[in-house]
Amino acid sequence: MGIQYPVNPQKRRYNPEWEDRFPWLRYSESEDGAYSSCCFTFANVSTSNDPLVSAPFMDWKNAIGAKRGILTNHELTKCHRSSLVAAENFMLVARKEKESIKESLNRSYSEKVQKNRDTLCSILDVVILLAKRGIPFRGRWDKSAKRDNGNFEYFIHWLAKYDNNLSDHLSSAAKNAHYLSPQVPNEMIDCLGEVIRSTLVSNVNQSKFISIMADETTDVSTIEQLSVCVRYLGMSSATNKVEVDEVFLGFVPLPRTDAATISDLLINHLVKWEHEEENLSSTSNRECLPTLSDTRWLSRVDSISTLLVNYSAIYDSVSEVMLQSTGKASHDASAFLRAMEQFHFIISVVLTQYILGYTRPLSVLLQSKSCDLIKAHDEARHLVSVLNGVRSEEKFKMLFDRAATIAKTIDVLPSKPRTTGRQAHRATAR
Ligand SMILES: [Zn+2]
Repeated sequence: MGIQYPVNPQKRRYNPEWEDRFPWLRYSESEDGAYSSCCFTFANVSTSNDPLVSAPFMDWKNAIGAKRGILTNHELTKCHRSSLVAAENFMLVARKEKESIKESLNRSYSEKVQKNRDTLCSILDVVILLAKRGIPFRGRWDKSAKRDNGNFEYFIHWLAKYDNNLSDHLSSAAKNAHYLSPQVPNEMIDCLGEVIRSTLVSNVNQSKFISIMADETTDVSTIEQLSVCVRYLGMSSATNKVEVDEVFLGFVPLPRTDAATISDLLINHLVKWEHEEENLSSTSNRECLPTLSDTRWLSRVDSISTLLVNYSAIYDSVSEVMLQSTGKASHDASAFLRAMEQFHFIISVVLTQYILGYTRPLSVLLQSKSCDLIKAHDEARHLVSVLNGVRSEEKFKMLFDRAATIAKTIDVLPSKPRTTGRQAHRATAR
């Protein structure tokens, strides 16, 4: 059965046919009144007694009509029109035909996140490019432009010509969020280093046979650095064969250069870099390039032998240090080079090594814990007679020839001050 619409004192009643003309109109049986469904739901109600909006409309007599028709006039009010728009939007969202505000906010948020990520990737690309090519990042401060004229900024602005996202970022980002300060590429390089190192370490950790190689060097700010490399047996992805590989893992600054400090720092860093500890068996490169010890003459004999065998390689390395460093490191290197270029230095080193070669067994004996004094005395007497025996022209000729051969490897002429400018020649060749 249909709804019974009560008759009011003016003998009027609600007419459901009005709903055909005004589709937003709804009748409330309990109140015997009508409401505008969209205004009731969406209007910003300011008065509590607004017929059709917040109170039931029941003036049936004046419901329609061109002039006084309340329903006709209501349809034209600002309140109704805006409520209608809101209601239509609500229905579109409900039918999934339109994005909701929440979705729209979410979408614009994720778009912003994506945009920021893309910007960061563009900047990261420039960092990787410069790092791979060994191009310096910073330049000099350009007073007139009030900016650094370095390669990093230069390439960022160059890339922005073709990268709209990056270009938008550069023109709109706040000064404290443009990602161009020196700290940003530094942090990116650190992060990249971490990623590369962890990949290398995970390769190394798969191997059962590894050795650690470490060597000291002084950087440009004259801080001792331990360079750490790992040599391991691994499967080559290219050839699918087992191969020995060597990787450089990083520098470790050394506060002191004693064995305890070096081994502690080395182990701490390797553990920090997530090497599996049980695989660690350290062999230091110090066996190959011994450092001079003030108290142990034995190590000096070994150092001198290493120096003579690798004379020209060491000369080249020291030249490299002189050219590439500044301050004390460069100054020291230059002094070493001047000494190394003298023939009398070379012949002295050859003679010293030759003589120390004879005295070495005695040194070993004297330093041993089970040193037998009688035996040591015999050895010393024997050594003196041997040394007297080698004082001959013939022996000196042999040693002189050896010194001359070594001198030749770095273009130094025997017994004559060096005149050819090897250093100048190298500089032009670079
Ligand atoms: Zn309305």
